[in-house]
Amino acid sequence: MAKKKLAKQPALKSRSNPTALKPKAQSQKPGKFVYFFGNGKADGDRTMKDTLGGKGSGLAEMTNAGLPVPPGFTVSTDVCTIYYQEHGKIPSTIDREIEENLKKLEKAAGADLGSIDNPLLVSVRSGAKFSMPGMMDTILNLGLNDRAVEGLKSRTQNGRFAFDSYRRFIQMFGNVVLEIPKEAFEHEFEAIKKARNVKLDTELDEAALRDVVSRYKEVVQKRAGRAFPQQPAEQLKMARDAVFRSWMNPRAQEYRRIYDIPDHIGTAVNVQMMVFGNTGDRSGTGVGFTRNPATGKKEFYGEFLINAQGEDVVAGIRTPQPIGELEQVMPKTFRQLRDITTRLEKHYRDVQDFEFTIQDERLFMLQTRSGKRTGYAAVVIATDLVSEKLITPKEAVLLVDPESLSQLLAPGFDQAEWKKIPVATKGLPASPGAASGQVVFSADHAVDWTQKGKQVVLVRRETVPDDIHGMFVSQGILTATGGMTSHAAVVGRQMGKPSIVGAGQLDIDEHARQFRVAGQTVKEGDYVSFDGLTGEVKIARVASKPSEILQVIQGSMTRKESDIYQRFEKLLSWADQFRRMGIRANADLGDQAETAYAFGARGIGLCRTEHMFFGEGRIPIVQRMILADNEADRRKALDELLPLQRSDFYNVFKAMHGTPVTIRTIDPPLHEFLPKREELMVDIAKLEIQGKDKKQLEEKKQLLQRVEQLHEFNPMLGHRGVRLGITYPEITEMQTRAIIEAACQLAKEKIKVVPEIMIPLVGHVKELRDQKAVVDRVAAETMKAHGVKIQYLVGTMIEVPRGAVTADQIAQEAQFFSFGTNDLTQLTFGFSRDDVGKFLRIYQDKKILDKDPFSSIDVDGVGAIVAIGVQRGRQTRKDLKIGVCGEHGGDPASIHFFEKTGMDYVSASPYRIPVARLAAAQAALSVKVGD
Ligand code: ADP
Ligand code: MG
Ligand code: MG
Repeated sequence: MAKKKLAKQPALKSRSNPTALKPKAQSQKPGKFVYFFGNGKADGDRTMKDTLGGKGSGLAEMTNAGLPVPPGFTVSTDVCTIYYQEHGKIPSTIDREIEENLKKLEKAAGADLGSIDNPLLVSVRSGAKFSMPGMMDTILNLGLNDRAVEGLKSRTQNGRFAFDSYRRFIQMFGNVVLEIPKEAFEHEFEAIKKARNVKLDTELDEAALRDVVSRYKEVVQKRAGRAFPQQPAEQLKMARDAVFRSWMNPRAQEYRRIYDIPDHIGTAVNVQMMVFGNTGDRSGTGVGFTRNPATGKKEFYGEFLINAQGEDVVAGIRTPQPIGELEQVMPKTFRQLRDITTRLEKHYRDVQDFEFTIQDERLFMLQTRSGKRTGYAAVVIATDLVSEKLITPKEAVLLVDPESLSQLLAPGFDQAEWKKIPVATKGLPASPGAASGQVVFSADHAVDWTQKGKQVVLVRRETVPDDIHGMFVSQGILTATGGMTSHAAVVGRQMGKPSIVGAGQLDIDEHARQFRVAGQTVKEGDYVSFDGLTGEVKIARVASKPSEILQVIQGSMTRKESDIYQRFEKLLSWADQFRRMGIRANADLGDQAETAYAFGARGIGLCRTEHMFFGEGRIPIVQRMILADNEADRRKALDELLPLQRSDFYNVFKAMHGTPVTIRTIDPPLHEFLPKREELMVDIAKLEIQGKDKKQLEEKKQLLQRVEQLHEFNPMLGHRGVRLGITYPEITEMQTRAIIEAACQLAKEKIKVVPEIMIPLVGHVKELRDQKAVVDRVAAETMKAHGVKIQYLVGTMIEVPRGAVTADQIAQEAQFFSFGTNDLTQLTFGFSRDDVGKFLRIYQDKKILDKDPFSSIDVDGVGAIVAIGVQRGRQTRKDLKIGVCGEHGGDPASIHFFEKTGMDYVSASPYRIPVARLAAAQAALSVKVGD
């Protein structure tokens, strides 16, 4: 995940100013800004997410489908952009459009905003194109005031309900619009509950709720320095603007940054007639999914609360009931809900996440959208939907987020170890996966500790959207309250973090930083482990073990035994039918190559030979080669390395079953193979004091001298890559010989090999010409000596900007190009890869860069250079084989870009291969070469 990098940096609490939004709409532009829905007809539909946001488009689509949706209207996302452009003002033309739609709504509802005997109450709901759970705020029961609440009471004959609605409204409005902390209200609420000796909000009667209302109004007066606004028209404008402002609140920004959602798209505002789940025991509210979002299983899934409103279900105030129990309470309504949601799933051809309210047994749908799901569920659902003929394999390929596949490869516990430890408690299994780490009680600690290299589990009573940075870095999330659709559950699943929620036996004291469970006290820093699939929590550190898929890959489980492996493979085989680009692996050794092949790589895009130099017992030989002050000595050391390299190459070739293997000649600066200067100086000082081992002392001194000779101020720009081969051609000779000898040997064994010899860091065609001459000469000699003919290619990495710009010249020599986008990014930006961490986060906070350009390719700059390289290279050599072997080869967004350039393949690390296969298929299905 590109986002991993984030773990190293603490999240900032506040960010740049909101006017940094990109201009999109013009306030002068005449047009439609408000879209009505109601009476079975809507102005918008499901295709209009950009304008209406996800929620607005869903409400419109459901209305058009004749489903019971309370009427309302959507103020488009363009208005959000205008709001920021105009520094917080809405042009009067738009205000008028809103007023007209409000009139329509009043007519549809048969009630008037601001009326005393028959008040129209509305909700004011945010809704961006991409859902951002809990990131933005909703206001319910708007339109109430001191007089309308009495009107509502006399009209419904339900004073408890009227005042319950009013107290909710004051709290939400006070919090969201007037920015008074929730706690200020909660404090009063708790005090009244305590005074009345009740536990649940539903136990408060009208008199108590009147008391709550008057205390809340005092809170508003005290905290906001003004009376609670009594004019519904003013309430509505203030609420609308607050929704627009919430778009730029820090947690919304943080969320967008993690999920790569652009800031400039803005949110819509939905104004909708209220329906009431809090009128009594024949009413309620709930949320659900058409399939289990954790496991993908086809089962009706969700929760509801009787006599409740809005977000009570997700807020963890009362413990909600599983949705299945609704069947007993209100069988007819339950059947209707099942019927509607099944229809919605068929209509949208994807799992739906829905919200509903029941008012006196009448069902209303309030939201539907594609359900967020774990990686595991994503694969199960996509393959099931194809079997059920609801979608085609092509659609299944497009349905699964490629990152889901990397979640599937995440480790689980060793069951034998796990079983030995007693279960301390059980919670709701919100998101699968094994988590083990040290307990922390705050998101900030989670970030701090992770930066210090610790693995943490975030334990909270419940999480809030402000915790997102801590959730992101944790191994897992464990909460004491909340249901399967609480914030922790939803976000945990989406992040692919193992999560358990509602582990009610945890007695958490966040101040003392400890919790008690099963007679034990667990302090911050103690280890806990849990299994997000079963909900079991244990007080211990437990080693984890590879995922089922990995076990099949590694042969400790058969394909037949693993349902998820079969689905995974099916999905990827569909993906393979649609992708244009080949998938290769970056792998240096035989076993890595085997894993990569098993994951579906068909070729090695980068085999880094120097990694082999670090193998068992090789470093002394390499050092001897480096220390040699004459060619003869150097050759002697190289002769010793030759058989070792040959056997490495033999293994890699063999693992790849005749697919091409690109081997890069030595690349890093030589000092990387020598001890550190400071360490040597300490050793020498010690030996001098001891005065015993003269010979060793002499050796160390020699070594130090050479280390000092090799010292470079800027090694990344120093004596490395092709420059090494040019100064020490005997290294290139040895490596070529090892490659060709291994190939000859395999050829004799009748195993096909396709070696591609790759020269790194070429910026000038003459550099490549020099090295190619060496390679060709040695290859010819070697083949002759073995009496075997091998087809091999000589090519180059394109990773120096000059190489890309002169690609037409370089292609005269190169038979293939492989873009080394790590170095190319480093050299194009002039950002040292090793030092960028010091300032990257600030660049992101200041919106200078959206993403880390080392994780996801900078399309405008580095990408443009890649495109030039491809175009100029092919200008000279039409059939030039081109790929990419930087980290970006495993990043879905970058893969989309590479598809457009017309590259032949991407190469990624072995565990990213499944992600790359799926992403390449999605790219081929959604963009065109040359776009
Ligand atoms: P979020 O995006 O955080 O889910 P919503 O706008 O969906 O926020 O509102 C949250 C909840 O508020 C809904 O699930 C629903 O229970 C309640 N709600 C919103 N609008 C209405 C309405 N018009 N009538 C009744 N309840 C509503
Ligand atoms: Mg909300
Ligand atoms: Mg909602």
